Amino acid sequence: MMSFKKAICAICDKPQAEAYKPFCSAKCKLIDLGNWIDGDYRLPSEEVPSDAEILDISIHLLQNKEKS
Ligand SMILES: [Zn+2]
Repeated sequence: MMSFKKAICAICDKPQAEAYKPFCSAKCKLIDLGNWIDGDYRLPSEEVPSDAEILDISIHLLQNKEKS
């Protein structure tokens, strides 16, 4: 079969972490989720968000979830 190839993060190309597939960390997972949100929440595309921004995104996502 195919040789084992280490999967890389869909966001930053680091090796994926088992717990956060297909991402390397909670941070990248949140970046990806943030990209999904329509319009009102945009991240700078090439910058890693600060912890405060990640917290903002988390809150935003939770609020979105409760609304629907
Ligand atoms: Zn990553």
